[in-house]
Amino acid sequence: MIASKNKGKIKEYIDLLKPFNIDVVSYLDYEYIDDVVESGSSFNENAMIKAKHASLISDLPSIADDSGLEVFALNNAPGIYSKRYSESGSDIDNNELLLENMSKVEDRRARFVCVIVFYEPLSGFHPYYGEVNGTILSERKGTMGFGYDPLFNINHLNKTMAECSVEEKNKYSHRGIAMNKLLNDLVEKKYENYSL
Ligand code: IMP
Repeated sequence: MIASKNKGKIKEYIDLLKPFNIDVVSYLDYEYIDDVVESGSSFNENAMIKAKHASLISDLPSIADDSGLEVFALNNAPGIYSKRYSESGSDIDNNELLLENMSKVEDRRARFVCVIVFYEPLSGFHPYYGEVNGTILSERKGTMGFGYDPLFNINHLNKTMAECSVEEKNKYSHRGIAMNKLLNDLVEKKYENYSL
């Protein structure tokens, strides 16, 4: 069970889990789900809240992530508030607000951070971390992905996340890095009740 309603994220998880013979469900497979309140004060706490909620609803082991963009010159904002940065919270408005807040900023360094929590009732919470460094551009580039992808230039590829296919983004992204660590543990049979 993937604890998300975000189509962009779910698409990435489906691609990451494609090599394994498992069925993937998410909140999108449910008609009505109470919104979970992300009341934690860190990526880790929020991911734990989301993972437990999803597992209780589905009666399945769950994977939740809390992720976001940290911009060095903005004291790591928007951080855990990445989804709710602008008033509407839409990707376009979030991008616009970031561009506005960066308009006079020379230091464009940023990173995407992701904490994935794998939760299963018998053994509890298992966190995995991933991050990727980049640069905030002064205009959007690329049409793929979601969120801040069009503004985030991956330093070592010199292209934005929104110019990467799902497969390529999963190779280099914060989420892909964290998820590959979890997949590795599942393949290595670290968890008694679940393996790949
Ligand atoms: P969450 O769903 O509470 O984890 O919110 C994550 C928010 O951070 C998203 O709504 C995006 O604004 C941003 N974000 C996280 N991961 C990515 C990514 O891979 N690309 C672009 N934006 C991202």
